[in-house]
Amino acid sequence: MPELPEVEFAAQRLREAVLGHTLANAEALHPSQRRHFPPQAQRAVAGQVIARIERRAKVQLVHLGNGAVLEIHFRMTGDWEFTAVADSPPRLERVRFETAQGTRVSLVDGRALSVVRLHAPGAYVPLPAGPEPLTDAFSVEGLRAALGRRRGPIKPVVLDQQVVAGVGNIYASEALWEARIHPATPANTLSRERLARLRDAIRHVLETAPTGRYYARDDVSEREIWRVYGKEGDACRRCGSRIARLTQAGRSTYYCRRCQR
Ligand SMILES: [Zn+2]
Repeated sequence: MPELPEVEFAAQRLREAVLGHTLANAEALHPSQRRHFPPQAQRAVAGQVIARIERRAKVQLVHLGNGAVLEIHFRMTGDWEFTAVADSPPRLERVRFETAQGTRVSLVDGRALSVVRLHAPGAYVPLPAGPEPLTDAFSVEGLRAALGRRRGPIKPVVLDQQVVAGVGNIYASEALWEARIHPATPANTLSRERLARLRDAIRHVLETAPTGRYYARDDVSEREIWRVYGKEGDACRRCGSRIARLTQAGRSTYYCRRCQR
């Protein structure tokens, strides 16, 4: 599943490809995409300038010249591909945008679960979400305040979008290993020093994450990328102890029993 670093990278590529372009047409090519992005919405974006492209958590927002907003969720396997309008479209193209400048933006998606939605001018209301982890808004004091009354284990709390926006299951495990914090530690018992370590660790794992197409990384095995995620039974890179797995809130968590306390 594309996580925050992949979605950030996708938004950057989209900006480089079509920011300032004018949409000539849009088409949802798959029935499940048509449900969210029907012909009427497809027609409504034609003629609009792509004024701004932003990422919020794992959502990409394309702000159009008339104030309308295209909201894009890649879900499991979505990604952008860019081609010239004159060239043949890519495989697995589910939604197509073409600009007057001759660029085709294809939302490619093997599983076709991606969602594109058009919000009429003024109608887009952002979901409430915590601070973006890679900005100054994600502070130790803010984290401390958010966790003050949370008695539950820290790992599911890190996944809570109200606490910090866009940290997924893999990065939560990786960050807790980096910060040497046991995933079952009650969130409200973490000292200021440990929260500072956790904040820095979340940033570190997101900043050093491999970007690019998540599902196209055939050449790099996941076991080489991650420190703990998916590595139950492997030796911890820090202490050599075995990586363990537990289930929290229905999700797998990987951690080192010895060096995460
Ligand atoms: Zn260890």
